[in-house]
Amino acid sequence: MIYRDFGKIGLKVSAIGVGCEYVWTADERTVYDLVRTAVDAGVNYFDLFVGTPSTREYYGKALKGVRDKVYLAGHLGCADLDGQYVKTRDEALCRDFLDQFYEKLDTDCIDVLFLHNCDDFADLDNILNGWMYAYAKELKETGRAKFIGLSTHSTDIAVAAVKSGKLDVLMFPVNPLFNLLPQDSADARMKGREVRSMTQAERDAYPTKRELYDLCGEMGVPIVAMKPFAAGNILKSHEDGRLKGLLELTPVQCISYVLSIPQVACSVPGFAGVDELNQSLAWLTATEEERDFSQINDSLVGKFQNQCMYCNHCQPCPRKIDIAEVTKLADMARGGVTDELVRRYSGLSVPASKCIHCGACTKRCPFGIDAEGNIRRAGEVFGF
Ligand code: SF4
Ligand code: SF4
Repeated sequence: MIYRDFGKIGLKVSAIGVGCEYVWTADERTVYDLVRTAVDAGVNYFDLFVGTPSTREYYGKALKGVRDKVYLAGHLGCADLDGQYVKTRDEALCRDFLDQFYEKLDTDCIDVLFLHNCDDFADLDNILNGWMYAYAKELKETGRAKFIGLSTHSTDIAVAAVKSGKLDVLMFPVNPLFNLLPQDSADARMKGREVRSMTQAERDAYPTKRELYDLCGEMGVPIVAMKPFAAGNILKSHEDGRLKGLLELTPVQCISYVLSIPQVACSVPGFAGVDELNQSLAWLTATEEERDFSQINDSLVGKFQNQCMYCNHCQPCPRKIDIAEVTKLADMARGGVTDELVRRYSGLSVPASKCIHCGACTKRCPFGIDAEGNIRRAGEVFGF
């Protein structure tokens, strides 16, 4: 394993970490094998941004005896309600969710405590000047948390948060797709306030990701790179391959791209199992040719719009529609509605036709995706 400086914190973290995005519904054996294979390979950073109680319990069991070899990241500002992820600032819910983290992971200390998923300036103000930061600081002072971070998808929020001087760590999406999105994608932040395009002055004033990376370097705030594969959208091997002909990369190339940014300490892909983990660990022994990602270039800028990342940050849905999965299946059906796609769609507990078009998901999406429109499209494509 290759270890990188965790900013000025003084730790060394593995260049490849493990996120928990695809193991929410995994069984105990899958989680155990994933965790143990990762630890054996020298992975020492695990993010558990959210998780079902069972996932956390399985993680706790898998980490028994090796807890001191790894750093665990937990999040304050979300909860699991009736089996659905929910971003919330409800103090009682958030504290309870964090208490469960300590209990299920069987640990007294969270190594990195992220203030979760902030993409709005009013929210940032509430977080940094309200109970969330105060509570995180209390946990840090009492040894229940070592470092305080913030996770966001918005460059200007990230810049403001880092400049506040209150953060030890930043969690931010880093992948070629996100970095090639037109600046207008920042319009996502205007949702819920006023849906319009940015003016040229706003666009000019909006910080670039390069400016954010430089700031993190100056302030000694390491970046934990989430979504290094853009939710699989850019993977050559991905079954739906929606970006075929435009952007098709291997996990090794994606990781090389992410780690080419010096301020990134660690990338945290989500893995559904050991096979996927091994495809990323292959980066360690890959040749320069295999790591080469030069096919990513400026000619691709602006080619990608309304591209769902299948992250489900737009949840909860009042009808309990699995928005990410429904959208993914509808996207896959662009190449034709196959029997396999119909089988998978039919297996969903709630079909798109149950949508009441409340628009809540579109307002919540941090990437400015028309989530409701995608659900509508899925209903039309599959017919129910
Ligand atoms: S619509 Fe947005 S929040 Fe929802 S899954 Fe897609 S990218 Fe994520
Ligand atoms: S618009 Fe439909 S999918 Fe989106 S939150 Fe409302 S009911 Fe759920």
